[in-house]
Amino acid sequence: MRSRRKRFARATSFRGMPAAVVTGSSRGIGRAVAVRFARDGYDVAINYRTNERAAEETAAEIAAETDGEAVVVRADVADVADAERLVDRTVDAFGGVDHVVNNAGIEESCPTEELSTADFDRLVDVNVNSAYAVTRAALPALRRATDPSGPSIVNVASRIAFTGAADEAHYVASKAGVVGLTRSHALEFAPDVRVNAVAPGKIDTDMNAHHSPADRRHKSRSIPLGRYGTAAEVADSVAYLRDASYVTGETVHVNGGETMR
Ligand code: NAP
Repeated sequence: MRSRRKRFARATSFRGMPAAVVTGSSRGIGRAVAVRFARDGYDVAINYRTNERAAEETAAEIAAETDGEAVVVRADVADVADAERLVDRTVDAFGGVDHVVNNAGIEESCPTEELSTADFDRLVDVNVNSAYAVTRAALPALRRATDPSGPSIVNVASRIAFTGAADEAHYVASKAGVVGLTRSHALEFAPDVRVNAVAPGKIDTDMNAHHSPADRRHKSRSIPLGRYGTAAEVADSVAYLRDASYVTGETVHVNGGETMR
């Protein structure tokens, strides 16, 4: 579906389109967000760490189906220098940054007594320190942004940041950190930049590919809507927060009602 969004007279990017950077957009939720933004009229920086082919597929999907332009940037966003380079490449490609989606993340289940300090540090670096680094690097460009919906940041947290989860204390701590970062940055950057989060429940991506069919049936019973969500359904909420000009510091839950159980 081609974008119906009009070009802006004073839009940030060289082409007269607003621009976004989506971390971890080679696959899963990040890919769906990148494609959704491109459909809505944004130029998008596609970021990956290892999976170049998947990142190029995201860019090809954008080229084939939207008016948006994509630039593919390899960057390990857990590395501060890489995070800064990702933002620089986006500004070089498009002339600015109007929106940031801090989506890159990893999950692993491991009992606390078995988790190495190095593995704990790595997960926290990828899931929360990266959001801090990308946000800090993008702030000057965001403050110059001209997208009429106002510059914004959307961070990707998780349902279990609010419930806790056995054997996932490190992941839960990192995602609770993302929620705290969201509220604190919303206060710190207001009124210039809005900062919100989405908290997905069980979403059908590679992250959950190890769930067997029986496991999925069992887990779906605790979801009122009775199924895993899709990456596109999370992207809908990210797009809502991008455009929600009077919403900041909030977390939108996208979990089929699972937090009610
Ligand atoms: P996914 O399918 O495993 O995709 C992860 C993406 O993050 C890939 O594009 C990957 O790039 C990228 N990535 C990982 N580490 C990176 C790094 N250090 N630097 C740059 N990119 C990196 O995961 P997903 O399910 O879409 O999850 C996206 C976000 O949603 C994560 O923050 C996750 O914690 C959160 N979330 C997911 C669920 C769920 O059920 N799926 C639920 C709650 C929250 P490569 O392709 O190069 O590896």
